Amino acid sequence: MTEFLFWTDAYLTKFDAKVIEIKENNIILDKTAFYPQSGNQVCDKGYLEKEEKRYIIEHVFKEEEKVFHQINSKLADEFRVGDSVTGNIEWKYRYGIMRAHSSQHLLSAIIKNKFDIDTIHANILYEEVMLQISHEISEYQLKECLQELNRISIIEDHIFNTLIVSKEDFSKYSDDLRGNIPDDNKIRLVEVPGYDLICCGGTHVKNSTEIGPIFMYEFKKGTDIKYVLGQKALELYSQFNSDLISSSNLLGISYSDFFQTIQRQNRDYNELGQSYIKVASNLIDYISKYPSLQIKEWSIGVLELDVEFKFIQKQFKEFPENYTLIILKPKNKVIIISNSEKIKANEVMNYLIQRYGGRGGGSPYSAQGTLDSIPEDIPSLIKTLYK
Ligand SMILES: [Zn+2]
Repeated sequence: MTEFLFWTDAYLTKFDAKVIEIKENNIILDKTAFYPQSGNQVCDKGYLEKEEKRYIIEHVFKEEEKVFHQINSKLADEFRVGDSVTGNIEWKYRYGIMRAHSSQHLLSAIIKNKFDIDTIHANILYEEVMLQISHEISEYQLKECLQELNRISIIEDHIFNTLIVSKEDFSKYSDDLRGNIPDDNKIRLVEVPGYDLICCGGTHVKNSTEIGPIFMYEFKKGTDIKYVLGQKALELYSQFNSDLISSSNLLGISYSDFFQTIQRQNRDYNELGQSYIKVASNLIDYISKYPSLQIKEWSIGVLELDVEFKFIQKQFKEFPENYTLIILKPKNKVIIISNSEKIKANEVMNYLIQRYGGRGGGSPYSAQGTLDSIPEDIPSLIKTLYK
């Protein structure tokens, strides 16, 4: 069994220990400050020192109360049971993970306390957190949480207490608990008085203001939140701030109107897009009834339109039989779609490429390509091809 020093002192970066077991290239110690990869928190980095030689820790994991310190397989036979070693934790990395984990507890507690929504999954990395909650919240609600989280992690002091209790004593605490209860003999509790109480084996800060600023950079489906903190957040804040100034100057909008203006322009653009789609749809409908050229029972229609293939394909289902539709898009892009037995889309496309240069291809039913130049009278060319 390994004594978990990281449970009692998350700030311990150097410790002496004895080797109690060696399993392949894993060194098991009587006690350790190395946090093993478990649950949602990544493991620590660092090295073991023995007789002034350093052994880099490649991975740390836990199996049945024992912590495995994985080292280079070529060096494992330099260890014997009973050896004295000194463990050294890479502090900057550990501290970034600690601060991330504590910030995650706070955010999960804020969401639980405000909206009674649980956290179903969290990933804790160096100065970065991914969080998934059980029910959707709005962007406005997220903003409320972000404000509160930033206040606690930058300005307001809140203490993190940790407590190890036995299964028997645990019932005293279980009423106020957020999250699940593990089936262990010893249960570790992490408490932020007035805010949160949860079972957790992770490493945590003593004071919430050690966390530093939070910058959320992704919010999807109303449930999936990603953010960075501390130094990573400061870098993003600075980048975002200078981008905002540059973009405001570029567009001639003051920063306070920036997002409203973008939203308004986006709305206008969408409305314009809707009108364009309507006009395009009417044009396609028109050409289906009045083709550009009719040879015997075959119809050929040509339209200059900037629409997607899928959009044309849908409407083409309603076209009369023996119809070949050619759509000319910007940048010399051509779409050919045909339901005719005789006129095949890929044959027409190859013919146009041969004569006018470019590339493309497709099936007898539909073909797409880009020509070096667009011919004036495509229907007449098709007429020549199939005469
Ligand atoms: Zn935790």
